[in-house]
Amino acid sequence: VNEPWRKTYDGGSTLVLDGGTGTELRRRGFKTSASAWSGLAPLTHYEALRDVHAEFIAAGADVVTTSTFGTTRFVLAAAGHESDFAKINARAVGAALEARAAAGRDVAIAGSISCLPPDFDARRYPREAAERAAYRELAETLAEAGVDLLLLEMMQETRHAPLALEAACATGLPVWLGVACRTSADGALVGYDFPLVSLEACLAATLPFAPDAVAVMHSRPEVVANALTAIAAHYRGTLGAYPELGDGRSDAAMDPAAFAAEALAWRAAGARILGGCCGTTPAHVRALAVALAGRS
Ligand SMILES: [Zn+2]
Repeated sequence: VNEPWRKTYDGGSTLVLDGGTGTELRRRGFKTSASAWSGLAPLTHYEALRDVHAEFIAAGADVVTTSTFGTTRFVLAAAGHESDFAKINARAVGAALEARAAAGRDVAIAGSISCLPPDFDARRYPREAAERAAYRELAETLAEAGVDLLLLEMMQETRHAPLALEAACATGLPVWLGVACRTSADGALVGYDFPLVSLEACLAATLPFAPDAVAVMHSRPEVVANALTAIAAHYRGTLGAYPELGDGRSDAAMDPAAFAAEALAWRAAGARILGGCCGTTPAHVRALAVALAGRS
């Protein structure tokens, strides 16, 4: 198995994750879908997607994430592309595999799975059996296409996240849990889009699946330190952080140098998987990789 990245990881070194693939595509003219976010990019913008992965690898990413955040069968159905499920997911993994092969450097490919509801509308989830089957189908499809691990993204509540985690764990691949949170008016950490669900409740529903790593992701940089502390109170495995810096339509909330400095603080707080989510560019990842190399 071709995975020196895993030696780095198992050896306790820091892995550099990529930045925001969907927002990078947006900067190259891709119009994100109101139903499927970046889920249709593998179909309509394959070359741009491959190039975004390649740029993140060139910038120093050890892990790139597939553009499959919005490619469950029920999300693609809402976008009018259910019949393209196999093609879209094969091309999503293919773009990352192609970028890796061209780079000639061993990086891990993380298969993204989310609980994004159809049309971003939580009232429109399918019945539980269909939802469960859809996560299984996506997890198995990504595994068969050759991803190295599965990355559960935007986990932030207690009903849907366990279904996705169960499906990911059933593949036997390493599973990383990405939780998204924000600070409520009374100072508690709550789900990024679910202000009535505490981070504690989300962790209680998801940590029993024993993920191989837990990262705070798509959360504002200023909540990362508190979120890492909250996770570490219940979880002794590998921690990570890849916050969001904006929607990619305007300037990132932090410039690359400031982002790299913050990331070093998250590393000091225990995070060993570091990168960015929405709004994080290859320049941010490069600054992070350089800062980490300078430390070791
Ligand atoms: Zn994001």
